Amino acid sequence: MPDLARCLAEAYDIALPHRGKGKVADYIPALARVDPMRFGMALALPDGTLHVAGDADMPFSIQSVSKVFTLALALRRVGTGLWDSVGREPSGSAFNSIVQLESEAGIPRNPLINAGAIATTDRLIDGRDADVVTQEILDFVRARAGDDGVGIDLDVALSESQTGARNRSLAHFMDAFGTLRHPVETALGVYFRQCAIAMSCRQLARAGLFLAMAGRDPLTGEQLVEAHRARRINAIMMLCGHYDNSGEFAFRVGLPGKSGVGGGILCIAPGQGSIAVWSPGLDDAGTSLVGAIALEHFAYAAGWSVFD
Ligand code: GLU
Repeated sequence: MPDLARCLAEAYDIALPHRGKGKVADYIPALARVDPMRFGMALALPDGTLHVAGDADMPFSIQSVSKVFTLALALRRVGTGLWDSVGREPSGSAFNSIVQLESEAGIPRNPLINAGAIATTDRLIDGRDADVVTQEILDFVRARAGDDGVGIDLDVALSESQTGARNRSLAHFMDAFGTLRHPVETALGVYFRQCAIAMSCRQLARAGLFLAMAGRDPLTGEQLVEAHRARRINAIMMLCGHYDNSGEFAFRVGLPGKSGVGGGILCIAPGQGSIAVWSPGLDDAGTSLVGAIALEHFAYAAGWSVFD
């Protein structure tokens, strides 16, 4: 049994010299001004143990990592009917690509690209008020993090909306095909706010544990999604979690993960634990460059892979 605390510390040290590489997201001021030298890691284990390194307690914008939590909630609420609105194939395209939507009749490839996440959020709304649904997502994330201090950065949410022409285009395009069940602005009102949730690595690693433990939060004992659904969420993360870089991440890390343009990555080791990393410099596909290096080394040192 490897010493996991040591594996984490080693992975942190190996990735540390790469800080500052990559490009910090600059489409909104709140992300553009984040210090590119920040780097944190946290490892959550099912017995409640947490190992941390670096800036593990500094909140950052989780951005598209939020899509995983919304997917879990949507599957819980609408079940397999969700797949009428969104597929589960890798896209091989950028996070905000519109090209496939036209040839595939307005059904986005998967719930982790922007179009698919908007469609998933739309199904989660299920006739309810946007504020109620946003609060549901926040409450779920807070409960998983075991920390009511997790919040939505309303500055980020507002900037997302003000610069959201591309996401609005995706939503209107899907609306034209009849994919969305609610007004575009209702779905986007939730989507922009879920992207603006701010969390630390410590909170995020803890929040991902239910996906590592067959849908059951090992610390509260709650069965949050059925085991087969947790497996499928992990499968989608594996194949689609890093947009057109998902194959590379699977090859290097060998674990399901989801990136966000804030520089966070949530990585799930089924049956073992959950790892969150954060460093703002991104590769071309929008995945944290330092974060991916750290995860590659951690997974290798710990001997964690879904391909054993
Ligand atoms: N808020 C970003 C967007 O919708 C999220 C993209 C990401 O984190 O990959 O454009």
